[in-house]
Amino acid sequence: MSNTIYRWWRHRIEGGRSAGYLVLQKPLTATSKRMAATRSRDNPREVAVRSALHRIGLRYRIHRRLIPRSNRTVDIVFVRAKVAVFLDGCFWHGCPLHGTSPKTNSEWWREKIAANRARDSDTDSKLKQQGWSVVRIWEHVPIEDAVALIVGYAQREERRT
Ligand SMILES: [Zn+2]
Repeated sequence: MSNTIYRWWRHRIEGGRSAGYLVLQKPLTATSKRMAATRSRDNPREVAVRSALHRIGLRYRIHRRLIPRSNRTVDIVFVRAKVAVFLDGCFWHGCPLHGTSPKTNSEWWREKIAANRARDSDTDSKLKQQGWSVVRIWEHVPIEDAVALIVGYAQREERRT
């Protein structure tokens, strides 16, 4: 107990600007430190993708709440084209290629990630019900490919309207 460090974590998945904080009473391991870093809302990958889109001339909103009575946010939103983009971390969202289970607290992480996945699919179906196209891109997808994919969606949907 004495060597256990308790820490407040911002809970990004449920998160939005005004979302509360969750107390995760877990020792701070190398894994959790790494995950905390990749979890921040403006991680370098997100910023890189966004600036590439901006350079191309696409305009979008970020971290929007699109689901009524929910504070879940969408990473990148093309409002007119109705495209919702998520940049999913391989660890947090349980990527089939890289979603490895940490050795420490593995059961806790496994449940946590399973809950994230369930929430992701619930988010997707709620958005689709409202007429949004949902694009989820794994963290392991190269940035240029991610950008190309997003551009494809944004333009295709734009033409449809
Ligand atoms: Zn991956």
